[in-house]
Amino acid sequence: MSAISQSRGAPDPSLTDEPRPLPGAPSGIMIIIVGAGIGGLACAIESRLEGHEVILFEQTKEFKPLGDNIGLFPNSGRFIKRWGIHYELSKSCAYPDGLRWYRYDGQFITHQRQQKKGEDMGDANPFKDAPLYDTTRYDLHQLLIKRAKELGVQILMNTRVAKYVEEADFAGVEVDGKLYKADVVLGADGVKSKARELVLGVYDAPRPSGYAIFRTSYSADRIRANPICAHLAALDEDARSIWIGPDAHFIIGTTKSGKEMHWLLTHLDKADVEESWMYPGKVEDALEYVKDWDPVVKAVMETTPEGALVDWKLVFRDPLPRWVSEGGRTCVLGDAAHPFLPTSQQGASQAVEDGVTIAHALSIAKKKGLPLNVALNVYQTLRYERVKRAQQLGVDNRNRMHKVDYSKPIDPEAVQLQFALWLWQHDAIQHCHDNFDSALVAPMVDQLASTSPPVAQADKLAIEQPVVAAVAAA
Ligand SMILES: Cc1cc2nc3c(=O)[nH]c(=O)nc-3n(C[C@H](O)[C@H](O)[C@H](O)COP(=O)(O)OP(=O)(O)OC[C@H]3O[C@@H](n4cnc5c(N)ncnc54)[C@H](O)[C@@H]3O)c2cc1C
Repeated sequence: MSAISQSRGAPDPSLTDEPRPLPGAPSGIMIIIVGAGIGGLACAIESRLEGHEVILFEQTKEFKPLGDNIGLFPNSGRFIKRWGIHYELSKSCAYPDGLRWYRYDGQFITHQRQQKKGEDMGDANPFKDAPLYDTTRYDLHQLLIKRAKELGVQILMNTRVAKYVEEADFAGVEVDGKLYKADVVLGADGVKSKARELVLGVYDAPRPSGYAIFRTSYSADRIRANPICAHLAALDEDARSIWIGPDAHFIIGTTKSGKEMHWLLTHLDKADVEESWMYPGKVEDALEYVKDWDPVVKAVMETTPEGALVDWKLVFRDPLPRWVSEGGRTCVLGDAAHPFLPTSQQGASQAVEDGVTIAHALSIAKKKGLPLNVALNVYQTLRYERVKRAQQLGVDNRNRMHKVDYSKPIDPEAVQLQFALWLWQHDAIQHCHDNFDSALVAPMVDQLASTSPPVAQADKLAIEQPVVAAVAAA
């Protein structure tokens, strides 16, 4: 059984005064970011710390508590901690002792251990300064917004960008007939990205992936009220359990010391859907997928409050041949560039890595006296292969859970989620500084800096399988 070892990010009272870094000396670089999601805000925060000016356009009128559980792994947690929001974010995190695995019929498979609060490895822990945050998207998002504003990011709400403009000496966006100009424009506009289409000239129609997720979150009191499933939501601690079955898996977890909970059922889905974040879901439809399953799973589903269930369709997206415009002053990042399967658990973390890489690539280019369009191409070169490998992990994890031969005893090692060290140990900022020069001379950058890639190059860059699938990620 493989243990999941990392610093869990438990709140440490000594950190209430943790250092909150100030904006860096002005770099003279002006950035426009479209989309105040996780990737856009991460880029905005790191950019301000680098001294860049940032204006951020967000289409939403106001942020509502939408979404449920989200994970930031050590490869992005290391930046969150440096930004001075570790303590606050830790308060909304879950600290389960691992993941309990069951067959769909309720037979226990294994307990994939995870360190609990207080079981920290101290200085011996390689992830001491790179915590894992298992939290809610709303809590994370609120803190990132607060931090970005403190650092001087201008966030313009209720502002939908519909037009991108790029000339040799600037990039810009048009909003309500007004042109806003900057050195670079970054499309962090999520899985339904318009930037992708408008900037790259690529219309990649979403296709059904064959999978969908029913997901919801609500007060864990409702679970505790039913004796069949009450053991899944003890007060004052957090827990995670998963049931795997043919082409489906069900996860239930609690956060905030057992006060809140969420459940998700990933299942086969034949609907030919338009892409959307959320469709209202019906509990009776979800129950249809677990007819022969453990009564505990059904009991959990039946505690769902009216109207709280979301039917989240996972769609495939064709791989993008490139993330940067021909002129090199506009790019996409996060889900706009590379949507992730939730089973990769890397969607948010990779968006954060993108954001910090761009902030530093711009600084380095400026310091070296290079044109700024070079920086975005370096960003793409540094990130493309890594992202591709991380996406593949989502497919591998899903297949490991969904394609089990139930006629034989289950090998616990064979079904468990893989948490790849090469993903977690990576420091995207360090990587950018160490590899900027070699990325600069990489053939891909040479080609992309001046023109769009020829067909052969685009083929070479394409992701081999339909793994660039799905909306959003954990
Ligand atoms: C409301 C919401 C709830 C979510 N809940 C979960 C969850 O529970 N669990 C999970 O794992 N992932 C969730 N996600 C997805 C997750 O945040 C992303 O997969 C991941 O963090 C990558 O972030 P991103 O910044 O690339 O995209 P996102 O976080 O999706 O952010 C994109 C942002 O761009 C804005 N935008 C889009 N188009 C425009 C435009 N034309 N002009 C201006 N602004 C624009 C959107 O309003 C949004 O705020 C959610 C996303 C959203 C938007």
